[in-house]
Amino acid sequence: MIPSDDSFRPGVLTKDGFLGSDGRPVDKIVEDDGRVLLEFGLDLETVADRLQSFIDEAQKQLEGLVHSGGFRFRIQWDRGMIPCPFGEPGLHPKIVARVLSESSGCEIRFSRLSIHLIRKHGFFGGKGSIFRLEPEDLARHFIIQR
Ligand SMILES: [Zn+2]
Repeated sequence: MIPSDDSFRPGVLTKDGFLGSDGRPVDKIVEDDGRVLLEFGLDLETVADRLQSFIDEAQKQLEGLVHSGGFRFRIQWDRGMIPCPFGEPGLHPKIVARVLSESSGCEIRFSRLSIHLIRKHGFFGGKGSIFRLEPEDLARHFIIQR
């Protein structure tokens, strides 16, 4: 599917949009991030599964901060659902997770939609957008830990 980049702009599906200050077209962002992942020998499924595992673990707790495996994380539920900017049918619950890697001090913030965007579309967000996830940070601090 060829996305209409309009859906990614601020004020269309979300207040802030998905592109931040990134001037690249969506397919170019996807291509460049895919190359970074390859350098680390990772695929989209692995990254998406890892992010989902934080949400799954946090959901087992009733409330508050989870401290596990060298990470501190919490999830927050917002009311409502959000569609995917790539345009296929379906809605994603607004669950936002924040995860801190204690060893590196690197913190990431992502939603259920972020996980979908990575898994299905290879999209990590435009540079400067609030939910941008740097593939290199994910690889180094949240997946490959040595
Ligand atoms: Zn989608």
